[in-house]
Amino acid sequence: MFVLQRYIGFVESFFKNCNVWSPHLLPFDELASEVRAKFRFAPEKSHALLMKSLSVCTVDIRSDPPEQRVVAAHELAHAIMHYGNQTKMIRIFRIIQEGEAKTLAGHIFAPDYLLEEYIRDAPPFYEASINYLAYTFGVTYDAMRERLDEFHRKYAEKFAIVTNRGY
Ligand SMILES: [Zn+2]
Repeated sequence: MFVLQRYIGFVESFFKNCNVWSPHLLPFDELASEVRAKFRFAPEKSHALLMKSLSVCTVDIRSDPPEQRVVAAHELAHAIMHYGNQTKMIRIFRIIQEGEAKTLAGHIFAPDYLLEEYIRDAPPFYEASINYLAYTFGVTYDAMRERLDEFHRKYAEKFAIVTNRGY
């Protein structure tokens, strides 16, 4: 978990330094080139090919745009943290890597500093706030729900007002 926190810190400060305040303008491409990765949108099953010189994150263009965005963040998370062939990996390592990628992906499509901004305008009911934020950040409902659950756990004390609103 400690190592994962450092990757989260890297992603958060990268975006913060870009000074982007619109979720749709988060520069995924620039973050990718920072870690020597690039995106490829094709009608193929999404995956990441992780190499030391250049990682390629393939995103399936046949899926819905919100799904594509979540997947792009997920494959990029692998490119930031992992290398090697996941399909040849023993199961437990693969499960761990998937969990890590899922968590880091959340911080790629919704960094804390932006979520803190937009959550203030979210409707005061949990389901409605997930829908609002999923739409605002251009991601799926499920991905935003998981991201928000993590966010609320982490900020339960800092944003006591949020938990008092029935979240
Ligand atoms: Zn994965």
